[in-house]
Amino acid sequence: MSETSNNIDGLVSSATDGISDNYDQAQVTEIVEKQIARLGVALEDGLLTCHVSDGIILQANRGASRLIEDRLVGRDIASVLGFSDALSLIQAAVESNITQEFMHNYKGTVDRQFRIRLTRLDEERVAVLVMDMTLQRNLDKVRRDFVANVSHELRSPLTSLAGFIETLLVSDIQDESTTKRFLNIMDEEAQRMSRLIDDLLSLSRVEVEEHIAPTEEIPLLKVIGAAIAAFESRGERRGIRLQLEDLRKDKSQSPMILGETDEIIEVFHNLLENSIKYGFENSIVQVRLSATDDKWGVVEVINQGDGIAEKHIPRLTERFYRVDKARSRQMGGTGLGLAIVKHIISRHRGKLDIVSEVGKETNFTVSFPLL
Ligand code: ATP
Ligand code: MG
Repeated sequence: MSETSNNIDGLVSSATDGISDNYDQAQVTEIVEKQIARLGVALEDGLLTCHVSDGIILQANRGASRLIEDRLVGRDIASVLGFSDALSLIQAAVESNITQEFMHNYKGTVDRQFRIRLTRLDEERVAVLVMDMTLQRNLDKVRRDFVANVSHELRSPLTSLAGFIETLLVSDIQDESTTKRFLNIMDEEAQRMSRLIDDLLSLSRVEVEEHIAPTEEIPLLKVIGAAIAAFESRGERRGIRLQLEDLRKDKSQSPMILGETDEIIEVFHNLLENSIKYGFENSIVQVRLSATDDKWGVVEVINQGDGIAEKHIPRLTERFYRVDKARSRQMGGTGLGLAIVKHIISRHRGKLDIVSEVGKETNFTVSFPLL
């Protein structure tokens, strides 16, 4: 927490220097309050005023509703922010007449990081400025993770590549088939590095914007249909048929969600790719769409395969987690697919459920709030 001696009384008196000659004190206060309220409307940040004794919110601007929630007036600031020390900090700000500033991890529909500044307005009221630092926090995290992941994960394919290049350069290999074999391995490693970079960039992009809800209206069924069409030939190569079923009771309307088309497509590409990769040859992958009464669009991607043991299921969406590392690697996997899926679904305020058992079918269920 930091403190700065920034006195609102001083600010108000200098702001009213020009008008105080012509108006009495009550009128000056009213004018200033109106100006502050007007400023609050224009402000992207949240601006609230609270009662000092109990932390009850007296005023809240649009920024506060956007960052926290609607209808804040009349509720107490500590429970609204989920921050039990709020009241004592407010009282400290008023007693000391020194602006109090601190960081707070807010747990709402989306987790955000706030920088909160408390400034005394008068004996009874405090101004609470809520600045959203989530983007900066995400950028810092993504940058740190990206650097760590790149340096760690690229090291082994790079070492392998350098080893083969050195062998080809220094030893005089006459045998054409050996040279070809080396070049094939090198090609695979280079492709792997390129996929890794692409997937890490995708993951970074969605992680940075995870707190910003997308706004495009998307026809869910159409997007799923397009994703299936894109993977049909891939399935055929393993004798796998992709089958789409619309199980909605009322099919008169197209199910719409708020989203970003490219990201929704990426979710289904990843799930379909996995169901084809890890499904049995000559089996069926079912994609089922249904809608719940409380307006969720539910998409299940079901494949027949070896299944997944219970202990792995909670970890599948961790970056680089693979049940069988060697098998996934041999299939060209980076272990980032489901991590990307998880972040995209979270950005869309959706849900991901995974149900599987060894020897049973595997079901990945994605749910999105319908419009
Ligand atoms: P990538 O998607 O980056 O190419 P990947 O498929 O190995 O690589 P994820 O999509 O994140 O990575 O999946 C993580 C792991 O979850 C996989 O390695 C696999 O072990 C398991 N998995 C995912 N989908 C299925 C499925 N349908 N059936 C069985 N196992 C699965
Ligand atoms: Mg995958």
